[in-house]
Amino acid sequence: MDLILSMHPMARAWLLDGPLSSYVGAFQALLERGRYAEGSSETALRAWSHFAHWMAKCQVSAEQIDEALVEQFLDSHLPRCDCHPAALRTRSGLSASLGHLLALLREQHVIVELPGPSGPIAEELNRYNVHMRDARGLAIGTREDRLVLVGRLLQCKFAGKAIAIGELQPEDVRASSQPSSRGSAAGRIPARSLLRCGPTSDTAGPAVTQ
Ligand SMILES: [Zn+2]
Repeated sequence: MDLILSMHPMARAWLLDGPLSSYVGAFQALLERGRYAEGSSETALRAWSHFAHWMAKCQVSAEQIDEALVEQFLDSHLPRCDCHPAALRTRSGLSASLGHLLALLREQHVIVELPGPSGPIAEELNRYNVHMRDARGLAIGTREDRLVLVGRLLQCKFAGKAIAIGELQPEDVRASSQPSSRGSAAGRIPARSLLRCGPTSDTAGPAVTQ
């Protein structure tokens, strides 16, 4: 709550009294789970606050948010933005934070999931993402890091052929795991977790290994 208290009063009011007010608790949990740096958390809160202010002016509800609406905000509103100076106007910060907002609203079942890419590798990644989210409770940032690494591994081992998780060896998983750009352990794939949650190795549901 400290970061919200330290926001400019105008920006804070947009966040706490606007159309995203119901999700402030989820925002804070997201920032805590993702272990964002303080500067990144401030950017995210200011981004969500500016977007909430624009939503209120356009009479848009949280259930109506999608990629097209975010694009409209970034491409149409932002270049002409005449909101209070407290509004964050850095496009990169807004874009990244609104991407996290979309993911959060999908996690909360406020907006529908995107159809997403199809194919065996995409299905495998989707299954691993759901496992990390529902069985492990991992934060969006951590899951994104791991999905990139797992996608690279599956593409390397199984591109153009059927995925057989049972053929993967722990060393394959470890070899593809590199520290993330954030320098945390979030970008490493726990080898046993991936190997045991694969669809061909556990049809009864994902196995939680840590
Ligand atoms: Zn504005």
